[in-house]
Amino acid sequence: MGCPEGDDLVLVGRDRLHDLPGEFPVVRCQHCGLMRTNPRPTSETIGFYYPDDYGPYQGTQVTNSRWYSISQMLRKFVNVILPTHACLLPDLTAGRMLEVGCASGKFLHEMARKGWQVHGIEFSDSAAASARLLGYPVTTGQVESVADFEEPFDLVVGWMVIEHLHHPVEALTKLYNWTRSGGWLAISVPNAGSAEFRIFKENWYALHLPAHLSHFTPETMRKMLTAAGWSVERIQHQRTLTNLIMSANYWVAERFPDSFLSKMTGWIAKKQRYLNLALYPLSTLLSFFGQTGRMTVLARKPE
Ligand SMILES: [Zn+2]
Repeated sequence: MGCPEGDDLVLVGRDRLHDLPGEFPVVRCQHCGLMRTNPRPTSETIGFYYPDDYGPYQGTQVTNSRWYSISQMLRKFVNVILPTHACLLPDLTAGRMLEVGCASGKFLHEMARKGWQVHGIEFSDSAAASARLLGYPVTTGQVESVADFEEPFDLVVGWMVIEHLHHPVEALTKLYNWTRSGGWLAISVPNAGSAEFRIFKENWYALHLPAHLSHFTPETMRKMLTAAGWSVERIQHQRTLTNLIMSANYWVAERFPDSFLSKMTGWIAKKQRYLNLALYPLSTLLSFFGQTGRMTVLARKPE
């Protein structure tokens, strides 16, 4: 955040999602406490770590079948128990929405169905093309460098995206300038302030190196938003144990490679959504104490 030099080494990790080469240190700024991946791939070379089969690009594809509607209904039911992003939004009248990192357009689609006029920004050409096929305008590029919008937005969202940006304060300032006075910002990021981060360290699932460049805690997230002009309204800790289950799987795989135990935890990791449901009381408790691996932050541009 424009701090003078001075970082402490927190851990050194690698790419666990695709097993691509490289070792990546995570450091903590001695001044503001922000944790960053440093050294890190540049904005020119980072694309290498986002292959086309990158998970989030796939999971957000929309199909127009009857099954899609049925699965959406089922999902709504599950969402009451395991809230996703949309459920965490304040109750707003439909207006103009911008989604940063819209991937293949699933959330744009959801909001458009509710009457929102939606626009997306997406870094990946192929994911942006999928979202455009659904009929939504999508600007390809990085938030920090795309051209300004003419009309302001009532709501800007970014689901698990700010941690991927090379210049988060600049990006959040840009989003601030694109929002009308009184408009909302809703973002979700991993919570590196949780106990699971300190327990699992380089095995923490949400580290996602080297794609994640910042590793926020509620405090550093608050500082960064304030620096960009936003006023933080609330920080919600999502009721999910995904990180915990996946991190335990990484830990076992590292300690006991190719063992029966690691095969078992690998299988559990694939079915983690069900385990998450079964352990709902535990995730509610952890969320209450701010200890789950993901947080959603709501901020507002002052009137
Ligand atoms: Zn700093």
